[in-house]
Amino acid sequence: MQNRPKLNVPFFNYPSIYKNEREDLLKLIDDIGCRGAFIMQNDLIEFERNLAKYCGSNYAVGVGNATDGLELSLMAMNLKRGDEVICSAHTMLATASAIITAGGVPVPVDIDNDNLIDPSAIESAITSNTVGLLPTQLNGRICKMDRIQKIAEKNKLFIVEDAAQALGAKYKGKHSGTFGAAGAISFFPAKVLGCLGDGGAIIANDKEIFQKIYQLHDHGRNQDGEVMCWGRNSRLDNLQAAILDSRLKTYQKTIDRRREIARIYNNNLAKIEQLSLPPGPDGDDEHYDIYQNYELQAEDRDKLKEYLQINGIGTLIQWGGKAVHQWENLNFNLSLPRVENFFKHCIMLPLNMSITNDEVHYVCEKINDFYKK
Ligand SMILES: *Cc1c(COP(=O)(O)O)cnc(C)c1O
Repeated sequence: MQNRPKLNVPFFNYPSIYKNEREDLLKLIDDIGCRGAFIMQNDLIEFERNLAKYCGSNYAVGVGNATDGLELSLMAMNLKRGDEVICSAHTMLATASAIITAGGVPVPVDIDNDNLIDPSAIESAITSNTVGLLPTQLNGRICKMDRIQKIAEKNKLFIVEDAAQALGAKYKGKHSGTFGAAGAISFFPAKVLGCLGDGGAIIANDKEIFQKIYQLHDHGRNQDGEVMCWGRNSRLDNLQAAILDSRLKTYQKTIDRRREIARIYNNNLAKIEQLSLPPGPDGDDEHYDIYQNYELQAEDRDKLKEYLQINGIGTLIQWGGKAVHQWENLNFNLSLPRVENFFKHCIMLPLNMSITNDEVHYVCEKINDFYKK
């Protein structure tokens, strides 16, 4: 095969999320600016309403970011000192740090062969101090929530979902973020629904939980401005909400495109036995994945990463290359063999809205080349 010219395929192209919509965004910013509508205005209220509706949930509250969203959700669960909350070891540190900030103790557990939290590991980790489960819907895919819900019911535990990576993902037809008491979503620029800065939301079905979260996120005030409890400030900017609301309107197209890219990767990498690929978009009827990331396991991972880099292809190893309990300074004393092995091999390929099909094929060709040598 003739060698084609080297392409430049960055892992993520930050300017593109502004430049591709520059004129519309400038109009929108100008409109908000001229109205002076910066904090808790109609654009935010509209977005919250549309987001809740999209997820099939009763309520949504815009917050500063998903980390705050997790913390506020856990505070609404009335976490007490020493309360244990079980989470996956393969998640952003934010999942565990939110438990700490809300006053609890994070208990990371091992992953299953789908790389998401292992329901059996959850069961083994339950103690008399366990009060809740905080599963992460990682890479745009939902955990085996029916099993996790059964465990929660049996042991009288709450579920709060880290749905930061999974807005629009479904399991047995049900939306990410709607399986427990609350779910936190991130609008970090590189997330599937991203804004132009930090942003997040919490979705909830129960009115009382919604009200508690609402109060906590705005200085303890309820929707009429009456102070009900101590709170803080973690609000989603009205401007970001307006941007998100306009992006939510075309969100299905975004998901379709991401699933298409994942399909190309799966089809073109399936024969390489040194790789272990994520489930494809047509893998099973129960999961509807939105591919926040395309994360796979590879033999000779570091050499592959270097080879792709030399060929102009950006890749990323999630979370800086470590599971939650592997950060020495955080003083976990745990050994979780599956996730530790996973982090020796995991790598993410570029999957975003600016990559072209030609570039995806180029990435596949280079990976095939690497393992032929
Ligand atoms: C991005 C992310 C977060 C944090 O989101 P922020 O909005 O940046 O606070 C938490 N958990 C997971 C799994 C994430 O991917």
